[in-house]
Amino acid sequence: MITLKPDFCDIEPLDGHLLSTDDYASSEARWCSGCGAHTILHSVQKLCSDEQLPPEKTVFVSGIGCSSRFPHYMKTYGFHGLHGRAFPVASGVKFRRPDLNVFVITGDGDCCSIGAGHWVHAIRYNMKMVVLLFDNSIYGLTKKQTSPTSPIGTVSNTHPTGSVLPPINPIQATLGLPNVSFVAQTVDWKLAHLEATLKKAFDHPGLAFVRIVQRCPVWMRDTYEPTVKDPNAITVLHHDEGIVLGEDALKKFRHVKDHDPADIVKAREVAELVKTTTPIGLFYQNKNASRYDEYGAHNLGISVEDRIDAINSHMDKYAI
Ligand code: SF4
Repeated sequence: MITLKPDFCDIEPLDGHLLSTDDYASSEARWCSGCGAHTILHSVQKLCSDEQLPPEKTVFVSGIGCSSRFPHYMKTYGFHGLHGRAFPVASGVKFRRPDLNVFVITGDGDCCSIGAGHWVHAIRYNMKMVVLLFDNSIYGLTKKQTSPTSPIGTVSNTHPTGSVLPPINPIQATLGLPNVSFVAQTVDWKLAHLEATLKKAFDHPGLAFVRIVQRCPVWMRDTYEPTVKDPNAITVLHHDEGIVLGEDALKKFRHVKDHDPADIVKAREVAELVKTTTPIGLFYQNKNASRYDEYGAHNLGISVEDRIDAINSHMDKYAI
């Protein structure tokens, strides 16, 4: 019989055994040295350990791009899919298996270009999952083509004299979608903020969309270095209902802006700040937005156990 529990998973059961970050680590990450994706990977493994997520109940779904290698580096279930198609795969997983912890790993090309249609509808469906947009503002895997979030003037292989169109602001775009329920932004090099953002996103009852400004030192060093080095370049959003940092961590930011994440109109104004600063924090949260996975769980009349039995029975047809 084919079972849904992975045979490759050699992690001990939770009974009496606390899972460490190493227990969630799979093969060695093959991103470039200094790539911001390394920090994000370790922070996600820490989140999994802090939450003691059962690996056999956790799924990472990705599309195509540097960031989309992520599922290979997690000792959980994973699906490294087609370009731009992480959202429909993740939505299918969540709809049929609402008991699973679902994460979407996508990049700026994967999400904001070829996957933009799926991005729109995944936000509207608002199924409980954490979406991490690794935004390095370039197609890195294919060696530097202009992406939808590349700043104007980016010199790339597709625009050797500089890109000409204004970039998509993924925060602004997501805040404009119907039924949006959680929008946050962080940067890969501010660890305390990154980890606090991941925790807040994981606790959100619907789809948590997190844009992570991610360093690509190979192709976009000149874009990110000024932000990384300049202590004035970041503005942290502050509120008791937002991403809450400890006093010491908060003191490290020179610019702090009060922002109530319940206010979507103000959130859209704050999203406009990207022209002069990099705002990080929770822009918007609505815990009561409708969730399509709840509709699925309550209205299809099929329990999770029945679904697993049905899948196993179907898969048995192909077993030798
Ligand atoms: Fe990271 Fe850039 Fe290297 Fe891709 S090309 S792995 S984004 S540093």
